[in-house]
Amino acid sequence: MNQPLDILRKTFGFPDFRGVQPQVIERVMAGANTLAVMPTGAGKSLCYQVPSLALDGTCIVVSPLIALMHDQLRAAEAVGIRAATLTSVDDNREETIARFRAGTLDLLYIAPERASGEGFRNLLSQAKLSLFAIDEAHCVSEWGHDFRPDYRLLRPLLDRFGDVPRLALTATADAHTRADILEQLGIPQDGLIVAGFDRPNIRYTITPRENTTRQIVDLIAEQPGPGIVYAQTRAGVEKLAAKLAETGRSVLPYHAGLDPAVRRRNQSAFVASEDMVVVATVAFGMGIDKPDVRFVAHAGLPKSIEAYYQETGRAGRDGDPAVAHLFWGAEDFAKARQRIGEVEAGRQAGERVRLTALGALVETAGCRRRILLRHFGEDAPESCGNCDNCLTPPAAIDATVTAQKFLSA
Ligand code: ADP
Ligand code: MG
Repeated sequence: MNQPLDILRKTFGFPDFRGVQPQVIERVMAGANTLAVMPTGAGKSLCYQVPSLALDGTCIVVSPLIALMHDQLRAAEAVGIRAATLTSVDDNREETIARFRAGTLDLLYIAPERASGEGFRNLLSQAKLSLFAIDEAHCVSEWGHDFRPDYRLLRPLLDRFGDVPRLALTATADAHTRADILEQLGIPQDGLIVAGFDRPNIRYTITPRENTTRQIVDLIAEQPGPGIVYAQTRAGVEKLAAKLAETGRSVLPYHAGLDPAVRRRNQSAFVASEDMVVVATVAFGMGIDKPDVRFVAHAGLPKSIEAYYQETGRAGRDGDPAVAHLFWGAEDFAKARQRIGEVEAGRQAGERVRLTALGALVETAGCRRRILLRHFGEDAPESCGNCDNCLTPPAAIDATVTAQKFLSA
């Protein structure tokens, strides 16, 4: 039998597994049900791709977005994995089904809504299955930030093929969501593997807003790029980009309201640049692979700790020092609370918990990194030495101010 490490080297051309990949793959190979919580870019796909090549049978991959599935399919085929998608937009269904029945598919990507169909379940019983991989598994939880009711259809399917191991994967799950995923998908507590969220080269700074534009102008004046400034609205992006451009720095806007050609041009210019600043909505950054981003600034509160971690995580992928600077105000929380009031009743509790967690992060006088890491279930020391509060403890500032007031009185 092909060993995982040989497959990694021969098929993927990588010298070694990273982080928790070997632990996850070992459990999967042993047939144990597993939930892997690994940050974006950590290499979750390999955790099922390698076993799909090492084990007999087809690995069924559940993925929430058809576009994402087709990207994954191309990437898998590019390294010679025998893969196919079975979705409403595919016109080669017959061929895919024939390949599956013949046992010549390593990976079969499906959308979750497939899972409930009796016809589909019958199809799956016609060939050997190696594994169920459930990508973006937080979608199964109402506590998650992206609940998709179709994910609830998976459990009966998984149970029908109860001796096929299941591997759930997600980048973004707080403790509550993780417990929910385990329960919803029938994975034991000890099947949880969490790892690798720390980004030690990123310095986190979180500051109350005075005048955001001036604060960001000051920040970019002393901060070499390339960098990303996140604003909350398209209008906010345009306004801030214009202001920042006045400083003489090379600045481009990016948001979904721009012409796609302009968007592509601005994105390529940024990727090629050594000092540019992009002012963007959160639409910017997905799928952008630029290792030397030196700073990410938020002109307002992000949507959640998960979003903050993802967005700041675009800085410093090369491992060199980078900074993440967030400016926030009480009005951001007021707006967020109003937004929560407008979402569907069943989701409000989860949204409130997420907002409270974000509040704890921005208001803490303690280590920011510790709060981030503990949010993702990782242990962390009291002090990281590389966030604003660890570098300049707020208690010390208060004490100085108080002392000065006292002395000047
Ligand atoms: P995730 O789904 O966790 O965000 P991906 O599975 O898309 O991450 O992988 C991110 C990138 O890392 C891909 O380009 C992948 O080829 C690469 N990668 C994954 N594992 C390894 C490894 N062990 N060595 C080198 N590169 C890896
Ligand atoms: Mg992925």
